[in-house]
Amino acid sequence: MAAYSPDNIFAKIIAGLVPSHRVFEDAEALAFMDLMPHSKGHTLVVPKKGSRNLLDADPEVLAKLIVRVQKIAMAVRIAFSADGLRINQFNEEPAGQTVFHLHFHIIPIYQGVPMRAQTGEMADPNELAAHAEAIRAALK
Ligand code: 5GP
Repeated sequence: MAAYSPDNIFAKIIAGLVPSHRVFEDAEALAFMDLMPHSKGHTLVVPKKGSRNLLDADPEVLAKLIVRVQKIAMAVRIAFSADGLRINQFNEEPAGQTVFHLHFHIIPIYQGVPMRAQTGEMADPNELAAHAEAIRAALK
């Protein structure tokens, strides 16, 4: 497996070099809206310490991260009254990984609403801002 490279979009988002709609941040992790959401409220959670994916992650980082994934998942569920949540995490390109900084997807599922396919289409920034605000409010 290739080594972690800090030259990836999520490292730039963590560093504040690329804008994102942030919902949560502490010393360990950052959560922000996915730019091309599979459903309303699709959120990403990343550790601040870089690893390519789950396989090369420091177990201590992973342990802290999953607790934050749970906390944010609960807020996402409340914010959008989701019927369920899919938590995805991909390792390497053949498995669907496109950004090589460990991340967990939190994808709300709504009864009877099929998940959107990955089309490369970016969401309306105003909508993402409103969704981020709803999650931040649910986290309080
Ligand atoms: P992966 O397939 O690697 O698990 O997922 C990467 C995710 O990152 C995709 O769902 C994609 O929509 C999202 N993404 C890619 N580039 C950006 C970006 O610049 N900003 C944000 N917020 N999300 C991104």
